[in-house]
Amino acid sequence: MGERLDVDVAIVGGGTAACAAAVALRRHGLTVAVLEKRRCGAGASGVNFGGVRQQGRDLRELPLSRRARPLWDGLNALLGEDVEFEATGHIKLARSEADLEFLERYRIDAAACGLELTMMGADAVHAELPWLGEKVLGASLSPTDGQANPRVVGPAFARLARRMGAEVREHTPVEAVAHTGSGFVVTAPGLEVRARRLVNAAGAGSGLVAASFGEAVPLTPLSPNMLVTEPMPYFVSRSIGVCGGDVYVRQVRRGNVVFGGGGGWQDHERGLARPNDAESLGGMKRTLQVVPGLAHARVIRTWSGVDGQMPDAIPVIGPSRTTPDLVHAFGFSGHGFQLGPVIGEIICELLVDGATPSPIEPFAIDRFDGLASAAPADAPVGGSTHTEH
Ligand SMILES: Cc1cc2nc3c(=O)[nH]c(=O)nc-3n(C[C@H](O)[C@H](O)[C@H](O)COP(=O)(O)OP(=O)(O)OC[C@H]3O[C@@H](n4cnc5c(N)ncnc54)[C@H](O)[C@@H]3O)c2cc1C
Repeated sequence: MGERLDVDVAIVGGGTAACAAAVALRRHGLTVAVLEKRRCGAGASGVNFGGVRQQGRDLRELPLSRRARPLWDGLNALLGEDVEFEATGHIKLARSEADLEFLERYRIDAAACGLELTMMGADAVHAELPWLGEKVLGASLSPTDGQANPRVVGPAFARLARRMGAEVREHTPVEAVAHTGSGFVVTAPGLEVRARRLVNAAGAGSGLVAASFGEAVPLTPLSPNMLVTEPMPYFVSRSIGVCGGDVYVRQVRRGNVVFGGGGGWQDHERGLARPNDAESLGGMKRTLQVVPGLAHARVIRTWSGVDGQMPDAIPVIGPSRTTPDLVHAFGFSGHGFQLGPVIGEIICELLVDGATPSPIEPFAIDRFDGLASAAPADAPVGGSTHTEH
C-alpha cells in the first residue's frame, strides 16, 4: 500500500510554469502537490537559452509577455535568490532589405500591443555594437528585454513553493490520471494523489496527460541545440537574435557566451534530448557571421532539451473542454521561459476565479479538434533553426 495525499490542486510537471502556479495557489491558501518525474527545472525550464524576450513574439502572445515582463523585475525579491535577470535589451538583426521591412512592420504591430521597439540603421547598430559582422544592415531594439539564468529560475520557484507549504515531489513520474466524477486521481509509483483540481503543465509530456481526458493534441518535441564558450572578456552587451531566428547569442557577466545552433536529437532510451555535432558546427558558422570575434573562442559544452511544439507555434493555455477543474498550460514551442512566471498566475486565476484577465482565447486546446493526435513515441525531434529565443 503506497502513500496517499489529498490536496486541492495536483500539478503534473515541475517546470517554471508549474512551480510558479504552486506559489500563486499557496498564496490563496490552497493545498498543492507538484509531481515532477525528474528534478524541478530539469525540463526545458532549466536548460533553455535564457532569453527574456518580448520582441519577435507572435502578436497573440504579446499581451501575456507584456504582463510577464514586470514580474521579472521582482523575481529576486519574490524568490529570495538571484536569478541573474538583466535588462540588457534584445536586438533583432536584419541581414537583408526584406528583414528590415519585416522589422518595421513588426514594430508597428508591437506598438499597438504596447511594446516600444526602436529601429536602428546600419550606422547606428554598428556604432553601438562595433563587434557585429558586416552583413548586418540594421536592427530593431527592445530595450526592456533581457536575459536570466534558467538553471536558477525553475528550481527557485520550486524551493519557494516548498517553503510556502506545497508538497513538491521530485523523482515522481505520473503514470496515470483520471477523473472520478468527484475529483482527480493521480498515480505515481508508491503514491496516489487525490485532488479536486488538476493542472497539466508537463511540458513535452503534456500530450499524454491531455489525451487521458480525450483531448489529444498534435504536440511534437522541439529540441534546440545549445552551446557555450569558455569565459571571455565581456563584450556582448545585448541579447542578440536575427530575423529568421537561426542565430541567437548572449553573454553572461562571468564571460561565457551562450548561443544556439539548429536542433538536437532525442535519446529515447533515457527520454532526454542530446546535442547534435553537425548542427553545432552549422550554428557556430552562422554565429561567426554575426559575431566574428568568437572565431577563437573555445566551446566548452553543448546541450539540448525538450519543449512541446504546437503546429501554430503558440501554446495551449486554458481550461479543458472535456473535464471540469482541469487546466492545461503547455506547448510553449521554444519560447515559454519568459512567460513562466505569468503562466503560474494565469493558472491560479483560472482555478480560483474561473477566469483570467489575460486574453487566452487563441490558446484554447480545442483549436486542434479534428486534426489532432498525440505525437508518436518516436517522433523526430524538431529542429529549432527557425525558432526564436
Ligand atoms: C534548448 C531550449 C532553449 C530555449 N530557449 C528559450 C529562451 O531563450 N526563451 C524562452 O522564452 N524560452 C526558451 N525555451 C522554451 C522554454 O524553455 C520552455 O517553453 C519553458 O521552459 C516550458 O516550461 P514548462 O514549465 O511548460 O515545461 P518544462 O520546463 O519542460 O517542465 C515540464 C516538466 O514536466 C515533467 N514531466 C513530464 N511528464 C511528466 C510526468 N508524466 N510526470 C511527472 N513529471 C513529468 C518534465 O520532467 C519537466 O520537468 C527554450 C527551450 C529549450 C528546450
